[in-house]
Amino acid sequence: MNSEKSLRTRNTHEKKVKSAVRKKLGRADRTSLNDSLDGEVKAFLIDEGQLHTYDDLTKVNPVNPTTVLKCLQARYRAKVFYTHAGCTLVALNPFQLIPGLYSLDVMKEYHCAPQPTEFKPHIFIVAEEAYRNVQGQVEPVNQSLVVSGESGAGKTWTSRCLMKYYATVAASSLVKTQDTVERLERRVLESNPLMEAFGNACTLRNSNSSRFGKYIQLQLDRGQMLVGASVQTYLLEKTRVAAQPMNERNFHIFYQMMKGANDEQRKEWKMAHGQRFAWLPNSQKTLEEDCFEETVEAMKHLGIDAEKQGHIFKILAGVLQLGNVTFCSTKNESQPCDIEKQSKDFVHNCALLLCVPEEELQTCLRVQTLRAGKQSALFKPCSLANCSVRRDCLAKLIYAQLFEWLVKFINESMCAEKSTWCNFIGLLDVYGFECFQLNNLEQLCINYANEKLQQHFVAHYLKAQQEEYVSEGLEWSFVQYQDNQSCLDLIEGSPMGVFSLLNEECRLNRASDAKQFRVRLEKELSDNSSMSWDKFSKLPHFTVAHYAGKVSYQIEGMMEKNKDPVPPELIHLLQKSQNPLLHQLFSDQQTEDPGTRGLKSVVTVVSKFKSSLESLMKVLYSTTPHYTRCIKPNPECLPLTFKKEEVIMQLEACGIVETIHISAAGFPIRIPYTSFLQRYALISNSAFIAQRTSGNALLSLVSVLFPPLPSQP
Ligand code: ATP
Ligand code: MG
Repeated sequence: MNSEKSLRTRNTHEKKVKSAVRKKLGRADRTSLNDSLDGEVKAFLIDEGQLHTYDDLTKVNPVNPTTVLKCLQARYRAKVFYTHAGCTLVALNPFQLIPGLYSLDVMKEYHCAPQPTEFKPHIFIVAEEAYRNVQGQVEPVNQSLVVSGESGAGKTWTSRCLMKYYATVAASSLVKTQDTVERLERRVLESNPLMEAFGNACTLRNSNSSRFGKYIQLQLDRGQMLVGASVQTYLLEKTRVAAQPMNERNFHIFYQMMKGANDEQRKEWKMAHGQRFAWLPNSQKTLEEDCFEETVEAMKHLGIDAEKQGHIFKILAGVLQLGNVTFCSTKNESQPCDIEKQSKDFVHNCALLLCVPEEELQTCLRVQTLRAGKQSALFKPCSLANCSVRRDCLAKLIYAQLFEWLVKFINESMCAEKSTWCNFIGLLDVYGFECFQLNNLEQLCINYANEKLQQHFVAHYLKAQQEEYVSEGLEWSFVQYQDNQSCLDLIEGSPMGVFSLLNEECRLNRASDAKQFRVRLEKELSDNSSMSWDKFSKLPHFTVAHYAGKVSYQIEGMMEKNKDPVPPELIHLLQKSQNPLLHQLFSDQQTEDPGTRGLKSVVTVVSKFKSSLESLMKVLYSTTPHYTRCIKPNPECLPLTFKKEEVIMQLEACGIVETIHISAAGFPIRIPYTSFLQRYALISNSAFIAQRTSGNALLSLVSVLFPPLPSQP
């Protein structure tokens, strides 16, 4: 009771102080105060020796990229990996296991604390805050936890931590039978290794890199208990099945099979010890390939029985055989290319494993069928290069469809009936902003998604700032702030935006010409300030000024990637498969009649991606968001190594620098009332000061009442 009273007195007191200072200093006075007391202000600025103690980057004075970077570095050295940045959590990847950091005891500590925010910054604070928010003050509110960062920064690790947290604190063991409970939580957690086996790969930047984006919704009942989950995936990098970038690898599942299969399976899957597969490069050992048993176990728990597993593995083994099939041209050009002699066994094994007629498989790979009306068809031998394209296309088609089926199966296995859950906490783990030497359609889609998320984040951040200012009684509008709408208009604008023009080009179905498309883009989109062209570049390209930096996209190949054409013969072939699962994957697939192509509206890669992103954004806007920005402190993934240039680039790419700018456009210098009063006591009335200085020290930091200092670039 006493402490409640003293808190009330303190709050009233604080309000009095604020209003007194405001009355004393008019806006004009504040400006002159700023000029004359510039030196004084610095006295409040950071004590570098104490930098590691700053739990919130917005408390660093002044807030600018240099001080923020120094603070993060000091904390990393002190082995403190989480730091608040206003309403965002910054997570630095330690690249080593930190004992006890995610233990059950720590989870309990954050979960049971009356005010988790009083503890050190941690991903569990975000988790707990979201969990408590679901209840809402008036009515329950769905929550979204958005985890972003570049490859290897720790997004998937963080998502897993969050899922474990909810599987622990929201475990429904008290309200359901032990058996059901165990199965549900286990299923939700087991979906991770399973999806990672099929969707992750070892890349140059991360040995367990997710090659797809995902949004998981954890479904909670009225009692806040976890009763189910659903997952939505985005843009699987299916090209990896048939082409792995230099020194990178295929999806983990193939290596797991190679290493984990027993003798009987090896025989069945045509995977003898030492067998080399063209699509399995860099077979040097990594941890992920030791996980075959774990993957099989996860399948079992999610309800994929031994028979279905058998079908899946045979399909995958068939894909591997397909990768070893090579072609050679014949002397007679009117004849289809030959399958190379040393590949004959592989094509035979492939047909056997995929359970499709071998003859037909061979034909499909080498001959194009052109429909001439409903009855008749023409057959055209494919060029040598085209045979390889068709082979790769078949593999990508099978793998993408299998992945989609797997996700659907996982959903059916985890999803609760709509009547049993009322709220959800969504976890978004998507690829961060990408800028490589050569960027194409994949990067454009990924960076577009990041623009959308950034817009959502800024709207949320501005709102939070605005609320903070209102609670402090400050008047402020972000007049200086420019959002990323022009960049979004450039990409998604209709009828004139990069996506629409690209789709139009694909619908016309003419021989795609990169140079022509470049001219069209320049004609239609030059007015947009986010678009530019590098005059010295030899390849046709366009450059987009993203919020995180400029990226040049090469146009060559973009139209083809957008169309992602699938020869109908391949689908017809797979529909004939005797493998029940493979047959099921394609049974309801419509094949396009080439005769009418171009007239129909083609469902392109960007149109599919845009619409799935739109649904995601709709969900995000309907929830309360919590942002976690993962940072990779060094590109080599070394433990406890902090490289400033790397970090600052990521702070820029994930929008923290932008946040800092917004913060600087508001009130970047925040001084505790006590310090402020001690220093400026002279300009206030003495009775008031006496009262103030004898009071308890106020911990809350507030904006000082003079205009912003210019932020450092
Ligand atoms: P990608 O975009 O490529 O999927 P990512 O952001 O999902 O990358 P993760 O796979 O989550 O990156 O993390 C990369 C590696 O960093 C992990 O395999 C793990 O070894 C390490 N790591 C990440 N976060 C932590 C952590 N909090 N503690 C210890 N190690 C971590
Ligand atoms: Mg990942």
